[in-house]
Amino acid sequence: PLTAGVVAVQGDVEEHADAIERAARARGHEVTVREIRESGIVPDCDLLAMPGGESTTISRLVHSEGIAAEIRDHVAAGKPLLATCAGLIVASSDPNDDRVDELGLLDVAVERNAFGRQKDSFEAPLEVEGLADDEPYPAVFIRAPAVADVDIGADDNGDEGGNGDANAEVLATWDGRPVAVRQGSVVGTAFHPELTPDSRIHGLAFFENEAASVPALENEKPATDP
Ligand code: GLN
Repeated sequence: PLTAGVVAVQGDVEEHADAIERAARARGHEVTVREIRESGIVPDCDLLAMPGGESTTISRLVHSEGIAAEIRDHVAAGKPLLATCAGLIVASSDPNDDRVDELGLLDVAVERNAFGRQKDSFEAPLEVEGLADDEPYPAVFIRAPAVADVDIGADDNGDEGGNGDANAEVLATWDGRPVAVRQGSVVGTAFHPELTPDSRIHGLAFFENEAASVPALENEKPATDP
């Protein structure tokens, strides 16, 4: 079976665990979900989710617990990471906020709380590139960030850092702002795909991203006819 990890220092952890189980089950895979509050677990994980919550708190704890470096290694090995809402802010390379110690796994700049007070939380039907079908995705935004700038990474222009040699690709926009991005094995969403029964975003991040490798799936025996 697959081992999935949900970064559980803070934020909506259970919901991600459920969504991962639903997405795996729908594709005929067994999965064990582990909650990550300390170092030493990420190296056993085939795939990772970093949930929403409060980005300053999450970034502080992943660094102080020694989880940050393990998440970077996970991504460097080409394994999938889904970073949602506060998780997207932490995974970015520019959170536009000194209180967030970013991981630099997605070469994007983000703007925290980008959708303003009146629209503190809302649901939007999103057209998302790469989903299994063309049905709009019911995206729940809660004090959500937006991507302010893509392609701030290093790889084309010779600066240091950056994730791999690809640039971040926009998968969905809302109100003219990018709200879902992918770069290599990392998918980031400004919204909360774990809060709806629709597990297509988890499916896309973990099972349908050709740039990501899931070691346990590669070792899985193809199903044989009875
Ligand atoms: N506004 C939060 C932050 O900036 C993110 C909100 C969320 O994850 N729902 O950290």
